[in-house]
Parts: sequence; C-alpha cells; structure tokens
Amino acid sequence: MTSPADLARPDLDAARAAYDELKALGMKLDLTRGKPSAEQLDLANDLLTLPGPDFRAADGLDTRNYQGLQGLPELREIFADALQVPVAQLVAFGNGSLELMHDTLVHALLSPLPGAEQRWVEQERVVFLCPVPGYDRHYGVCERLGIEMVPVPMTDSGPDMDVVEQLVAEDPTIKGIWCVPKYSNPTGVVYSDETVRRLATMPTAAPDFRIMWDNAYAVHHLTDTAHEIADLLALATEAGNADRVFVFGSTSKITLAGAGVAFFGASEANLAWWLTLTAKRTIGPDKVNHLRHARFLGSPEGVAAHMAKHRAILAPKFAAVQRILSEQLGGVEGVSWTRPDGGYFVTLTVPAGLASATVALAKDAGVVLTPAGATHPYGQDPDDAVIRLAPSFPVLDEVEKATAGVATCVKLAIAQQGA
Ligand code: PLP
Repeated sequence: MTSPADLARPDLDAARAAYDELKALGMKLDLTRGKPSAEQLDLANDLLTLPGPDFRAADGLDTRNYQGLQGLPELREIFADALQVPVAQLVAFGNGSLELMHDTLVHALLSPLPGAEQRWVEQERVVFLCPVPGYDRHYGVCERLGIEMVPVPMTDSGPDMDVVEQLVAEDPTIKGIWCVPKYSNPTGVVYSDETVRRLATMPTAAPDFRIMWDNAYAVHHLTDTAHEIADLLALATEAGNADRVFVFGSTSKITLAGAGVAFFGASEANLAWWLTLTAKRTIGPDKVNHLRHARFLGSPEGVAAHMAKHRAILAPKFAAVQRILSEQLGGVEGVSWTRPDGGYFVTLTVPAGLASATVALAKDAGVVLTPAGATHPYGQDPDDAVIRLAPSFPVLDEVEKATAGVATCVKLAIAQQGA
C-alpha cells in the first residue's frame, strides 16, 4: 500500500511502470469537449416528433411562416427567470449562443453601440478582459475579430474585481469582459453577489463597455444546492448602467446540443439596436423549433424536472472523477482540482510547467485531453499548470478509466521533473 509520504513525491520507477501498464491497455478515450452524452440527448428524443401537426403558437401565430424576429413568447417566458431577463427584453433565436456572441461583437464592430461615439472598428484598439482559466471559444471569437485579450485572475467568487475595476476605470480601450457567472467553464466557480454588484456598478472609462454574461450553465446543477446568482441586468439598471449587460444562454445542454435554442437578453436600447441589425441578417429564427421546445419543456418547473434527469446521469461521472483524483493524487504536492456543484468541467491544476507534459503523456496512452493552454487567451497558460477535464460525454466506466489514466500521467510527469 502506498503511504501518504510516497504520494507526496511519486517514485520514478513506480510511476513509469504504472504508465507502461496504462499504455499497454491500448485505450482510446476522450475527455476533451463538454458535450452531452448520447444518454443525455435521449432524454429529449420527444422533440424529434414535436410539435406535431399543430404548428400554431399560443397566440395563433403560424410558426411555419416568416414573422417574429424576437422569437416565440411562450418559450421566452419559460427561460426569462432562469436567465434573469424580463420576457420583453429576451430574444429566443437560433441553435447556439456562440453565434449570438460572435454576431453581437460583429455588430459592435460595425455599428455604434448605444452610448458609443464610434464603431469599434474605428478604434485603434479594442480590448476584452478574460478571466482565466476560461472558455477557449470566447478567445476564438476575439482572435477572429481582432479583439485583444487581457487575462485577469479568477478567484473562488469570480474574476478578481480589484484588478477588473482598476483596469476598466483607467483604460477606455477596454470595451468588455467575458463572464460565465454560474458553474464557470472550466472552474465551476459561481460568482458571488458582491462580484455581480461590483460588475454592475463599477465606473468604466469606455462609455460603451459591455459585459458578455454567458450564463450557459444557469440551470445545470449537480447537487441539491441550486446556486442562485445576483441579477446583473437588474443591478446594472438600478445603477444607471443598463446598457452594459449582454446576457446569453442556450438549451444546448438542456435539450439537443446541435438543435436547441439560444437566447440573448439586454436593455431596451441594446435590444432595439440588436434587433435592427439582426433584421438585416435574417427574417427570423426557427419558430417551429421554439414551439417544440415550449411544448416539450412546458414551464420553468418542466426545465428543472428535465435537468434533474441530466443530473442523475452526470453526477455519478463527476463523483467518479473526484473519487479517483482523491485516491490517486490526494496529497501530491502542487496538485489540486475543483469540486464543481454544476456545469460540465473539472479544472485540474498540476505543478507549474507540467500541464503540457501531462497532456502529451495522456495522448500517447490513448487519453485525449483538451490541449494545455486552451483555458487561456492565445492558448498560453503562463504557468503551464491548468488542465480541463470534461467527464460528460464518455460512459461512466470510460470516465473512470480515463481519470485514472490522467492521474497516472500526472504522477509520471512529476516524477520525471524531479528526476
Ligand atoms: N458558453 C459556454 C461557457 C460553454 O461552455 C459553451 C459550450 O461548451 C457554450 C457557450 C456554447 O454554447 P452553444 O452551444 O449555445 O453555442
């Protein structure tokens, strides 16, 4: 049996032998993307036959036809509370929130935002703050659109607000910040009320500063504690900063990841700006999809009941990750990991300089992990220490094997560094 003292410093020979055994298994496992599993998607299979022959919305609208740029009211009503946006200020749109975030920033580049003197494209620099570790696709949007990224540290209660407040107060080129306020990707952090309040009220040098409030995991609880966050849009409105908030969300991890519904919410002025510009891009969203979602989910309570079914599938996988990491890596110096109460990810932190080595070892042993650095802007984790684990997609047995495999790789990487 391994003593705690041995665990603190993995022995090179033992670590190599364990790794060779792992390799000999010839595994092919993938812990990269936060995708729902087939079992989770099956929960929404009724959508495939909805809405059925009755294609009329509650107000009699023929969902098959044009009209209704803002999306079906009955679906917006179901999600307004969860996303903390009044129904009248919420848009239900296409199948993914990423495209809404992308397009909203394109609009800001090409058309002056409410409160802006100029289009962003006319400014010498447009900078966004990126709490790290964060979501790689946010960084992808910025890179694509020429928006510079400045990392800010993440704490247990959200971005380090002392740093954020100082930067946004001083620098008018800082036009925005990315936030995943609940069960953040990848840390699982839930923003504290104080963090939300400071984001809503902080003075910004840029009059057209925006918070990209990506509430992707608003109802995605993994425990009995259904965390609530403070209402950013309401607090900002109260403070006279209503226009600084753009809210995003989607049903990608509620119903079907490739055929769900995405949401955008904002102040009345922002909404008018957004709808006017979006009307140039499309005559309207897929309201048949909205209708089938409204019928399938029914109400906020219906959403909660459906999410409980997801939790029943996901929670054992997350528990397995916790158990195996504790057994294998508990007490190993410099190694820690998050214990999220919701969302899709666990962040594993290894001693500085060893994330890339661990990911490479895992790859050679048949366990594919998100590339080291992906959790940071430009793919650069200055400490090379953060690894994102996504246990949702593989079946439980594979999650267990893959997590044990990752632990073996961490131990070998540490032993090799010390050798
Ligand atoms: N935002 C966050 C924080 C995510 O983790 C993801 C998916 O992993 C998305 C957005 C993508 O959502 P959608 O499928 O609605 O584009």
